[in-house]
Amino acid sequence: MEYEAVIGLETHVQLKTKSKMWCGCANAFGAPPNTNVCPVCLGLPGVLPVANDEALRLTALTGLLLNCTVAHSAKFDRKNYFYPDMPKNYQITQYDRPSTMNGSVGFEFAGRMAHVRITRAHLEEDVGKNFHFERNSGVDFNRAGVPLMEIVSEPDITDADMAYDYLNALKSILIYGGVSDCDMEKGMVRCDVNVSVRPKGQKELGAKIEIKNMNSFSGVRRALEYEIPRQIEVLTKGGRLSQETRRWDDVGCITETMRTKEQAHDYRYFPEPDLMPFVPSAQWLEEVRGRVVELPLAKKQRFMTAYQLPASDAETFVNDATLGQYFEKIAAQSKNPKSVANWVINNLRAKLTEAQTTLSDLKFKPADILELIDLVESGRISTRIAQEVFSETFATGEPPGQIVQKKGLAQVSDSAVVEKFCDDAIAANPRSAEDFRAGKAAALNFLKGQVMKLSKGKANPNLVGEILERKLKQSPNT
Ligand code: ADP
Ligand code: MG
Ligand code: ZN
Repeated sequence: MEYEAVIGLETHVQLKTKSKMWCGCANAFGAPPNTNVCPVCLGLPGVLPVANDEALRLTALTGLLLNCTVAHSAKFDRKNYFYPDMPKNYQITQYDRPSTMNGSVGFEFAGRMAHVRITRAHLEEDVGKNFHFERNSGVDFNRAGVPLMEIVSEPDITDADMAYDYLNALKSILIYGGVSDCDMEKGMVRCDVNVSVRPKGQKELGAKIEIKNMNSFSGVRRALEYEIPRQIEVLTKGGRLSQETRRWDDVGCITETMRTKEQAHDYRYFPEPDLMPFVPSAQWLEEVRGRVVELPLAKKQRFMTAYQLPASDAETFVNDATLGQYFEKIAAQSKNPKSVANWVINNLRAKLTEAQTTLSDLKFKPADILELIDLVESGRISTRIAQEVFSETFATGEPPGQIVQKKGLAQVSDSAVVEKFCDDAIAANPRSAEDFRAGKAAALNFLKGQVMKLSKGKANPNLVGEILERKLKQSPNT
């Protein structure tokens, strides 16, 4: 019997707001423990939450970016449970009326377009962080009350690689939209993985196993690469699977049971009495709509068609959006956007890394790259000299044309001058001239090299080739 996997992901994302979800405390990573706290996010009695409007906007924006509908009325609910890092003993979330629902994400997977439907994206709050020391434990509440969005997918994912690519697609959409920095190192994205297997062709879903709290995408992939075969093996051996929650051990590379359905929490959800349902006005929605940006995949496709770039160049500019923006500024004025891309990717990017600077600190103007390309295309300088000129433009900010003039780097296309170099090269290398006449084509390249050397790289290489060939084909005595 053949089995197939069914995967749905619940992705938690910290939103990029200045302050927390219900209070004015800073939403900031890395502050000393318990310095970004107040009575509200510490859950002291008698306080009232005030919803962060920017968090509501970012959630609605996410909905639009993920092709969801935005709710006309969204409600907040209390999810009750006890955990030491959650001082209120409940989390404010959205239960039956989330901010946004029914969308989809399209992304490239295994050479084709894949689509994963989005069930909902709702708004809630993060909890604090427990620390366990040698003799005692501590809680840092700086993270408590940070706006957290949960994006729930339909079970449309079929394997570990697809889960990985979906998560990366989602992440780049959220970064593009300015919704979240999605910094994995800072725990800004965490994921619950739901996975079941079923006989191929069966409609009914198998027992859902949930792997909680994954904090890296590669971890999600590894966990699924372990868990799917495990489930298949249980069924193949005649065993049964039942709904449970498991934890991934990234060192041992196994999943293990955390709790079964019988031990599942009853959260006793009820409407949050301290918050009104959120009903966005038409103007509010219009403003959010104004923040919709071009998504990474659309941008890649546009770069490929508008500028005739290969997929790899387009991807480079999608992944490094500021570099892409810089490229577009120049390419818009160029007849040859591919050369612009070559300069920006191969030369400029390398120099930026080498000099450890950024595009905002460049000494030269974008138009200087156009000038450099013109100098090469018009035959004024060779590509090799162009690299030299670019290094100097990069270092000093001096325009390429000026450097060429000052240093006398212009390519020599005066045939009388080039002829003289050719004569000298032939005279100095009579054996190579003989070899060429005897039919060794490679000898011509050697002589060409000699002429380039004599001219300090400035002779026009095409002209050198032409003149050398003509001279060598004449009799040696004329
Ligand atoms: P809960 O409310 O208990 O978290 P849901 O049914 O809302 O469970 O689903 C949570 C996630 O699990 C969603 O991403 C959904 O697509 C996925 N899911 C639901 N049933 C299954 C299943 N049988 N196999 C795999 N994933 C599933
Ligand atoms: Mg769940
Ligand atoms: Zn606070």
